[in-house]
Amino acid sequence: MLKSLNHIVEALDNQPFWQGQKQFQQIRDCWADVVGADRAQQTRPHSLSRSILYVATSSSVWSQDLSLNCRSILKQLNARLSTPIETIRFSPGWWYQEQTLPQTEESEHPSLVDQPEVSSSADPPVEQPTPQTAFEQWAAKIKARSQNLPLCPQCHCPTPPGELKRWHVCGLCATKQWQG
Ligand SMILES: [Zn+2]
Repeated sequence: MLKSLNHIVEALDNQPFWQGQKQFQQIRDCWADVVGADRAQQTRPHSLSRSILYVATSSSVWSQDLSLNCRSILKQLNARLSTPIETIRFSPGWWYQEQTLPQTEESEHPSLVDQPEVSSSADPPVEQPTPQTAFEQWAAKIKARSQNLPLCPQCHCPTPPGELKRWHVCGLCATKQWQG
């Protein structure tokens, strides 16, 4: 039973698809070593197809930077791989896509259809609110709301009328009074 399982695993191992996956995994494992920590933060191996490695970059500037150094990256990468790859393509267009499994040998890489190698217009137009702006919006809302509030006689902070009615000071000052 175990022996036959091993046969299956071995057979699978020799399939081009799985070899590609293993190779892609090898590339991902050593990517930071090859390009260095700075570039590794701005770039990510995206997929592998027909011995071409597709690398996503955070911007077109990084695509250009790595394209210029493509030869030395390729050389260092191949020194670490059991099967060498032929070339590397960089594009910021893949940065916001999920990583995909390596393509089978027959199919053309789908991302190539309308993605130029180096393009400044490929940066995604979607702008999501950052935590910073979300906080600013929240703070502005609180401020606008508090402008109509009476002030606490003790700390002069805007205070809900209910708190003033109950404690004659704001909740914070009331708590401080209780504590000591
Ligand atoms: Zn107060």
